[in-house]
Amino acid sequence: MGLPVEPSFRQSVDLIFSRAAQLIDLSPGLKEKIRVCNATYTVRFGVRLDGEICTFTGYRAIHSEHMEPVKGGIRYALAVNQDEVEALAALMSYKCALVEVPFGGSKGGLRIDPRKYAEHQLEQITRRFAYELIKRDLINPSQNVPAPDMGTSEREMAWIADQYRRMHTTDIHAEACVTGKPLHMGGIHGRTEATGRGIFYALQEFFRHPEDVARAGLDGGLAGKRIIVQGLGNVGYHAAKFLSEEGGARIIGIIERDGAILAEGEREGLDVEAVAAHLRETGGVKGAPGGRFVRDGLATLEAECDILIPAAIEGVINLTNADRIRAPLIVEAANGPITAGADEILRSRGKVIIPDLFANAGGVIVSYFEWVKNLSRIRFGRLQRRQEEARHALLVAELQRIISEAGLATGLSDDFVRRYLKGADELELVRSGLDDTMRGTYQAMRDLWHGRGDVPDLRMAAYIIAIERIALSYRSKGL
Ligand code: NAD
Repeated sequence: MGLPVEPSFRQSVDLIFSRAAQLIDLSPGLKEKIRVCNATYTVRFGVRLDGEICTFTGYRAIHSEHMEPVKGGIRYALAVNQDEVEALAALMSYKCALVEVPFGGSKGGLRIDPRKYAEHQLEQITRRFAYELIKRDLINPSQNVPAPDMGTSEREMAWIADQYRRMHTTDIHAEACVTGKPLHMGGIHGRTEATGRGIFYALQEFFRHPEDVARAGLDGGLAGKRIIVQGLGNVGYHAAKFLSEEGGARIIGIIERDGAILAEGEREGLDVEAVAAHLRETGGVKGAPGGRFVRDGLATLEAECDILIPAAIEGVINLTNADRIRAPLIVEAANGPITAGADEILRSRGKVIIPDLFANAGGVIVSYFEWVKNLSRIRFGRLQRRQEEARHALLVAELQRIISEAGLATGLSDDFVRRYLKGADELELVRSGLDDTMRGTYQAMRDLWHGRGDVPDLRMAAYIIAIERIALSYRSKGL
């Protein structure tokens, strides 16, 4: 007997969409309109590198324009193809609707291994790709706003922003054409870490609900939980860092391209910073301090732990390994790490999955804040911070006067006064907005999960909320 046939990434997203759509009372025509990808632009362009002309293939898919601009990252990887970009664009539409950021869904990709090029070559390639998209309004502050994804970072976003400005010298909103930019180019505090921090907030909220924790067969809080992370890139690194440093969890395994590193003693967990530094230096986790290296990284997905966080690529938990996954709780930090078939197997085995639509939404939530900041051309907190501090100072002075006049032996502690007097800066405001959105969204999902007998899990709840919101938007437009 051969291996079971797995649908493509795009088909997998569609299968999940159809499962959810069955639970919603909408006309078949409207369901189909929401499901399809509106358009995908494929571009092939040449760049002269060291005297040779090299041809590259890139994509920008626009899944749903029920709201504009459409939003979604640009990925640099050799595996990029039209099916993948369309699947990721669809996930963006549903994700934005779920977390209530006013964007449609899009995604871009360039078929390239960025590690094979020097920085100046990557800049040339990125600028040329951006030029092709900008001249067709596929990058535009009011129509289509990219962000970083796998293989890209604030560096590429800076090149794209600069390219846009060169081509639109009088556009006052030029800065808002892309998010995830460096701070000095109109970026926002907390964007680089946002997706990982969002995963931390998502788990914090999950552990505030003992009933949900019990569904996963776990108990207690996040502190002390044993976590395995796949992919120590932007998302995986920040998630692991916040979960261990602030959440008190133990990172007992990290899986990368070359294999996995497992903590020697589970009591301690790995030193995430040390493993990340080793990965930066050597390109792998082999030989990283504080752990034992195993070559078979994929098998480590099946190792015993409390929480498994796939944060690298799609399709890693599939029909070939779903029945051997031991973690009772899986957090989809990557987009689509669990295929539609594996999802069913895991559910039937009682696993709880915190789905990608929600878990990794932190990036687009903070991108939304950055876009608003760029349009308003003012840093968050700039107007109110000192005024807030002055009002707090007034209150502290009055309390201290009352305490002193009453002759009380005890007063306000220095630590309280220092912390209370400090007005919120941009980073604190961004974190607060992100935490609020993650908490509110989780609560909406769990209300549906527990409140409706036909909603089997958080993923279905997430899709139902998203599809209903998109449907409402289309209906208001007369569709
Ligand atoms: P990244 O390029 O910064 O990191 C990816 C990491 O995964 C790298 O360290 C890479 O070596 C590792 N990796 C790649 N293939 C692997 C494999 N087969 N096995 C083990 N490790 C592997 O990318 P990222 O931005 O962290 O994105 C990771 C995932 O999160 C993607 O699915 C992306 O779509 C999703 N995501 C990213 C963001 C964001 O803000 N960057 C937001 C939402 C979702």
